[in-house]
Amino acid sequence: MNPAFAHNTWPQIKAALESGRPCVAILPCGATEAHGRHLPLNTDNIISEGMAHYALPALDEAGIHAFILPTLAYAPADYAGGFAGTISISQAAAKAVLTDIGRSLHAQGFACLAIANSHFDPANVTMLREAADELRALGLKVAFPDFTRRKLAQTLTDEFKSGACHAGQFETSLVMSSRPELVDEQQRQASNDNPNSLTEAFAKGAKTFEQAGGPDAYFGFPRQATPEEGNQTYEAMAGALVQSITEAVAG
Ligand SMILES: [Zn+2]
Repeated sequence: MNPAFAHNTWPQIKAALESGRPCVAILPCGATEAHGRHLPLNTDNIISEGMAHYALPALDEAGIHAFILPTLAYAPADYAGGFAGTISISQAAAKAVLTDIGRSLHAQGFACLAIANSHFDPANVTMLREAADELRALGLKVAFPDFTRRKLAQTLTDEFKSGACHAGQFETSLVMSSRPELVDEQQRQASNDNPNSLTEAFAKGAKTFEQAGGPDAYFGFPRQATPEEGNQTYEAMAGALVQSITEAVAG
């Protein structure tokens, strides 16, 4: 069995579902969205996929068959809507896709859908919470480590906690860890510190990155990023994902 869900044949998935071990489908949730001048539009997809991959060994040890679904690469992303390349879809459209994926997995006998999300646009997070609740009401177990909740946010880096964390040190470190060839190093070095907090700007009613004080679609400290920090953050995010899945499966 290949952990990449879509690389399996249907008989391989059937065999996993009949193996007696709980089968969990991890859905990496990202976006197609501007991330500064130095990171690619698929930054959040890369990060969510990385989190899922880092979780695999511990899930296997816990006796769980974990598959990583094809990534959900479109999401509500209106904050970045003023920048070329951003594709924002409605909350309703995103929620319909997510809940239909969950329904389909539930009907096949998957024990749990796990949401591995790194796209923290408030409209996206709200949509994910609502979709998770709807699927739980249908009887599907849903694991959703929500890093915007204080308890989990505390386990991540200082920049993340400050809220100045879009395409800054936190995300740049993660992309440098897993896809360094996609980081424009010259632009990264030219990206001056931007300590404006997105979460504070959200609370004050800002509706766009420009209004929040991010004229180049980044917040934080891209020049401080290192692949080592990225590795550590992947471990922390994967740890939260594993805990959320094992609790959901046991519950
Ligand atoms: Zn991002």
